[in-house]
Amino acid sequence: MRTSISERPIGPTSMAFYMELYRSIQFCGVHLFLSFCISDDKAPVKVMARVLENEEVIQIVADLLVAADGCLSTIRRNFLPDLRLRYSGYSAWRGVLDFSGDENSDTIINLRKAYPELGKCLYFNQGSGTHCVLFELQNKRINWIWYINQPEPELKGNSVTMKVSSNMIEKLHEEAEKIWVPELSRIVKETKEPFVNVIYDCDPLEQLFWDNVVLIGDAAHPITPHGSRSTNMSILDAAILGRCLEKWKLGNLAMALKEFQSIRLPVISKQVLHSRRMGRIKQGLVLPDRKIFDPKTATPEDCQELLQKSVPFFATPSLVDST
Ligand SMILES: Cc1cc2nc3c(=O)[nH]c(=O)nc-3n(C[C@H](O)[C@H](O)[C@H](O)COP(=O)(O)OP(=O)(O)OC[C@H]3O[C@@H](n4cnc5c(N)ncnc54)[C@H](O)[C@@H]3O)c2cc1C
Repeated sequence: MRTSISERPIGPTSMAFYMELYRSIQFCGVHLFLSFCISDDKAPVKVMARVLENEEVIQIVADLLVAADGCLSTIRRNFLPDLRLRYSGYSAWRGVLDFSGDENSDTIINLRKAYPELGKCLYFNQGSGTHCVLFELQNKRINWIWYINQPEPELKGNSVTMKVSSNMIEKLHEEAEKIWVPELSRIVKETKEPFVNVIYDCDPLEQLFWDNVVLIGDAAHPITPHGSRSTNMSILDAAILGRCLEKWKLGNLAMALKEFQSIRLPVISKQVLHSRRMGRIKQGLVLPDRKIFDPKTATPEDCQELLQKSVPFFATPSLVDST
C-alpha cells in the first residue's frame, strides 16, 4: 500500500503542527550537548547539556532526541563506536570574496566576462585531477571551492575545517595561476582568509534510529559535496521526520521512526555513493569501471554522469513510496 507522507506539500495544517513542534523543541543552539541516556523502559531520553551563557550543566528530558550534530556526530558514536569516516583523497580550499563597493573593479568586470551566467548558476571548472566550483552569493559575494588531491591531513579537535598558514596560502596562489584562467585565479588571490575543509564521507548506514534517538543531516549521511545537495538532504530529513511524527503521533513513535527510515535510507544511500563517484571522477581518481577522467580528451558521454541532473532523486527527491 502506498502512503503519501512524502508527497504532500507543506500546507497550513502542517505548518501549525511544525510551529507546535518548534515550540516544544529544546533549542540546542544555546546548549552544548554532553551526553544522553535512555531509560530502561525506553522513554523518555535524558540529555545532559551545558548552557553556553552561564556554563551551567542541565538535564533535558524529552520523548525524542534528534541528532543533527553533523558528520562527526558524537550522538552517532554511541551507537556506532567503530564507525570511521572515509577520507576522500582530497581536501577543499574555500573562500568568499566580498566585492561590495568594488562592483566595477577589473577583477569583477573580467570575471563576469569570463563567466557570463554568474549569479544564475554554479560554474564547475574542470582541470586534470582537480576541479573548482564558482558561484555568486547574495550581497555581492563570490564563493569558490577548489578540490585538491593530497594525503589525509592531520585534524585537530572535532572539526573538518583546518587552519592554514600564510605559506600554504602563498603556494595556493602560485598553483591557481598555473592551473586556472586568470579571471578565476585572481578571485582566489584576492580572497581574504581562505580555509580548508578536509573531505570525508562514509558508507551508507544500515539504520537511522535506535529506540528514541534518530539521526538526521550529515550525522545520518556524511557525504562528499559533489551533488551540491547535502543541505537539501538535511532539510528533507527534517521535513519527512516531521511528517512521520505528525502521522503517527508520539504514541506510535517507533512506527514514525521506522517509516522515516524506510523513506529516507534508500534515497540518501544512493546519493552518498553517487556523490563519492562524482568526486572521484572529477578528481581524476581511480574507479574500477571507468578510465581516469581527462577533461582534455573527454567526450560528451564521459561527462554525462557528472551532470547535476544525474544525481539520484534529483528531480523527485522525496517521491519515495513507503509500503
Ligand atoms: C566543501 C563543502 C562544500 C559544500 N557545498 C554544499 C553545497 O553546495 N550544497 C549543499 O547543499 N551542501 C553543501 N555542503 C554540505 C553542507 O555544508 C552540509 O551537508 C550541511 O551543513 C549539513 O547540515 P547539518 O545540519 O546536518 O550539519 P552541520 O551543518 O555540520 O551542523 C551540525 C551542527 O551541530 C552542532 N554541534 C555539533 N556537536 C554539538 C554538540 N555537542 N552540542 C551542540 N551542538 C553541536 C555544530 O556546531 C553544528 O552547528 C558542502 C560541504 C563542504 C564541506
